[in-house]
Amino acid sequence: MKVTHIFFDLDHTLWDFNKNAEETLSELYSELNLGDHLPSFLEFYSKYIEVNESLWDLYRNKGITKASLRTVRFTETFKYFNIDNPFLAEDLGNEYVLRGPYKSHLFPACHEVLSELKSKYNLHIITNGFEEVQAVKMATSNLTQYFNQIITSEKAGVTKPHSKIFEYALAASGAKASESIMIGDNFEVDCLGAENVGIAAVYFNPDKLIQNKKVSYEIAHLKELIDLF
Ligand SMILES: [Mg+2]
Repeated sequence: MKVTHIFFDLDHTLWDFNKNAEETLSELYSELNLGDHLPSFLEFYSKYIEVNESLWDLYRNKGITKASLRTVRFTETFKYFNIDNPFLAEDLGNEYVLRGPYKSHLFPACHEVLSELKSKYNLHIITNGFEEVQAVKMATSNLTQYFNQIITSEKAGVTKPHSKIFEYALAASGAKASESIMIGDNFEVDCLGAENVGIAAVYFNPDKLIQNKKVSYEIAHLKELIDLF
């Protein structure tokens, strides 16, 4: 296929969300003396990942607001460990959101691949993350330079996988669906969402998860994007 525009998801696709989150939370675990209340960092962190993922599903389905997501993910995690301390959860939630975006771990070969692709294609971002947070992440990790359009769900008014955000992104970048590619780690949200509006998808699947459907392409490493289409 003839490709002119490539749309990337940001979190868990370029920006190594889990590595950055773990580093931030591990610093805060020490600074806020969370070890006085919790069994261990690893137990706290793995429960937090689980709680956060289910609250993000709820946020995408409009069951919770952005403001409450920030604190509730920690009150819910604390609740699992029988800790009832809303002030501590709020402190942690605020500090995490302030500090996390300044972490800059990216997936392997990210800069190398983006600079190669930028010489051939128009690159853009489509993210469900929050506008101000994503801007800090991209600036801190030196990613802003590669992208023409940075489409957030706040800007588009809906989150992926809704068709409207992909249509908004195509219009903003002057791209045709038939000449576009979407790359993301979330099979439903990024890949099926894009293919639903006629944009071919690349499923970024470093953990080699099994899906019961197929999309146009699948990769386990960003380097595979060079010469893929
Ligand atoms: Mg993602």
